[in-house]
Amino acid sequence: MKCLNCNSKNIGKIGKQHYYCWDCCIEFTVHAEKLDLYQVEKDGTVSSLNDLFIEEIRNYADQQAMSPA
Ligand SMILES: [Zn+2]
Repeated sequence: MKCLNCNSKNIGKIGKQHYYCWDCCIEFTVHAEKLDLYQVEKDGTVSSLNDLFIEEIRNYADQQAMSPA
């Protein structure tokens, strides 16, 4: 698992399918064939980054589809 934003491997697991990048401070949730990315602001506001990472999300889905379960 690598960060889709900065490629860091400095990823913390904060939930069942929920990860946090310590380097660029984004959170993402991993589903079977889909990713959701979020930015958590200093005031605690969460904003979706899916629109910014649409290519990465698509690539992830393709990789998942290609690799055997
Ligand atoms: Zn990152």
